Amino acid sequence: MAGMTQPITTAIAGSLPKPAWLAQPEKLWAPWQLTGEALQQAKADAMRLAVDDQLRAGIGIIGDGEQTRQHFVTTFIEQLAGVDFLQRKTVRIRDRYDAEVPVVVGPVSRPRSVFVEDARRLRLLTGGPIKFTLPGPMTMIDTLYDGHYGSRAKLAWAFAEILNQEATELAAAGVDIVQFDEPAFNVFFDEVRDWGVGTLERAALDLPCKTAVHICYGYGIEANIQWKQGLGAEWRQYEQTFPLLAASRIDQVSLECQNSRVPMELIGLLDGKEVMVGAIDVATNRVESPEEVAATLRKALQWVQPQRLIGCTNCGMVPLPRAVARGKLQALAAGAAIVRAELGWS
Ligand code: ZN
Repeated sequence: MAGMTQPITTAIAGSLPKPAWLAQPEKLWAPWQLTGEALQQAKADAMRLAVDDQLRAGIGIIGDGEQTRQHFVTTFIEQLAGVDFLQRKTVRIRDRYDAEVPVVVGPVSRPRSVFVEDARRLRLLTGGPIKFTLPGPMTMIDTLYDGHYGSRAKLAWAFAEILNQEATELAAAGVDIVQFDEPAFNVFFDEVRDWGVGTLERAALDLPCKTAVHICYGYGIEANIQWKQGLGAEWRQYEQTFPLLAASRIDQVSLECQNSRVPMELIGLLDGKEVMVGAIDVATNRVESPEEVAATLRKALQWVQPQRLIGCTNCGMVPLPRAVARGKLQALAAGAAIVRAELGWS
């Protein structure tokens, strides 16, 4: 990896808020404010600001803040062949809410790179380790209507091959960690076992960089908040998935810990993995204190060694006001520094 990685380093899950001149603030999936060359320049400028906010806060692993994406899944799929964005069908997403989605009309393929130019740009902005996010195969198929394959598994395997092509190019562009976002892993447990982890490993096959999977309880939107209220006193969804991931070749696994009802001992199921512990709640504008972050990380250290612990956000921060997200970045880095100092690193 580029640069030295210190124990209890820090990273963001993926997205950061966008500037108002790029997209409407505090809105998920907000449309772009510009078009053409002006939009391309604005996206590049926004990425520089997102990187700058992370570096100034002292975050250890730097991401692009997903400044070039309107949606974490569809912006990738838009560049693929075999999917018709003019046709729309209503499907139930993650068994939770209905959405109008594009239709798979033929064999899917990737005629061109999607994020590789963005990755090259990000690589130029810091000498430290960088992470790039991609949607995972199961979450991709759960955001589409399949009018061709007739099998969720078959379509997921096809997407896994495409993701592997993209990830291979991202690694060649200097990306240190490719992360696959799989919120669907917290919903479809039989499929996770039958082919979910298999397709994830296919997407990560033979990559010369580290690989990660982000599994969350979603952005702080109404449908997710209601879903979480029905999950009971303890959220044990990870209990089914983590043993499968522990046996996989994926290097890093993220989980949601701050203000969640996930029992922290589930980290113990990830023996040997690097663990991204969500120590920042993205469903509230209240900024955590560094001491609160430190308390969450200290608790995690009961189950994971400091060299394998990465302080992280629970999920993406795109819906938050920019000042709030900046405060949370600072709290995350400062909280990790407190725990490092206690352990004799500074
Ligand atoms: Zn997430």
